[in-house]
Amino acid sequence: MSKFVGAHVSASGGVDNAPLNAMAIGAKAFALFTKNQRQWVAKPLEQKTIDAFKANLEKSGIQPKHVLPHDSYLINLGHPEIEKLEKSREAFIDELNRCEQLELEKLNFHPGSHLVKIPKKDPEYMDKLMHAELHCLDVIAESMNRAIEATKDSNVKLVIENTAGQGSNLGYKFEHLAYIIDKIEDKNRVGVCIDTCHMFTAGYDIRTRETYDETWNSFDTIVGREYLMGMHINDSKAKFGSRVDRHQSLGQGEIGWDAFRFIMNDTRMDDIPLILETIDETIWPEEIKALYALIER
Ligand SMILES: [Zn+2]
Ligand SMILES: [Zn+2]
Repeated sequence: MSKFVGAHVSASGGVDNAPLNAMAIGAKAFALFTKNQRQWVAKPLEQKTIDAFKANLEKSGIQPKHVLPHDSYLINLGHPEIEKLEKSREAFIDELNRCEQLELEKLNFHPGSHLVKIPKKDPEYMDKLMHAELHCLDVIAESMNRAIEATKDSNVKLVIENTAGQGSNLGYKFEHLAYIIDKIEDKNRVGVCIDTCHMFTAGYDIRTRETYDETWNSFDTIVGREYLMGMHINDSKAKFGSRVDRHQSLGQGEIGWDAFRFIMNDTRMDDIPLILETIDETIWPEEIKALYALIER
């Protein structure tokens, strides 16, 4: 068995509940928030919670490398305002420390947003947009380098997620991911997570054998397959290339089952967490089973 499928499970009542919730749906991987994702500050993890998490993880049989913690949505490592940028950087380091305490290996995060509004009718629209994006990517890379420096004794990898490119969110092009990685001093501490819904609405088609191969070959060329450290497996409510981030249950959206069959039979996705963030958690057990059933022998 080389595929590790799970879902972003609830950690309410304590992070130690997450492995149990994963086990209950037949997951072999999972994602979680290690703190309330809508709050800036969380109280430190208590030793008894850490111990219970490790014990429950052991019980679940899920390996630490197949757990993909997700950071708070409030964090913007590319924030244009210094005060909010500092706050984000601090919260991000706290997230890394929490992963380290739980003996987890990866932290998944959205790169950041430039938040610059350029009127479409501005004759220099494209130039200004490009400038805002590049500057933001530089700030994100700087935030990551600082976080790595601040957690030098840790091995937690900073796993950048591709985005749909909604609003001013960066990371919707493979080139953005590659640009950031290029600027990271310690490349052993960086990876990427590809979300199928985001990739699809950002304009990377995966619906047919041909488009799937084309998309992933370009990922290999631009980013490098060695950086792929996790995936979010979602169908999409929004249309191809719409740059809108709306997840859907598998097979019920615009992507369809073929893409998920290609993934389940692609060795690039061996041994990394494959995480459902689909909208109906009551069918996660069926979705997990359905994904495994796609494996051709
Ligand atoms: Zn995602
Ligand atoms: Zn999403």
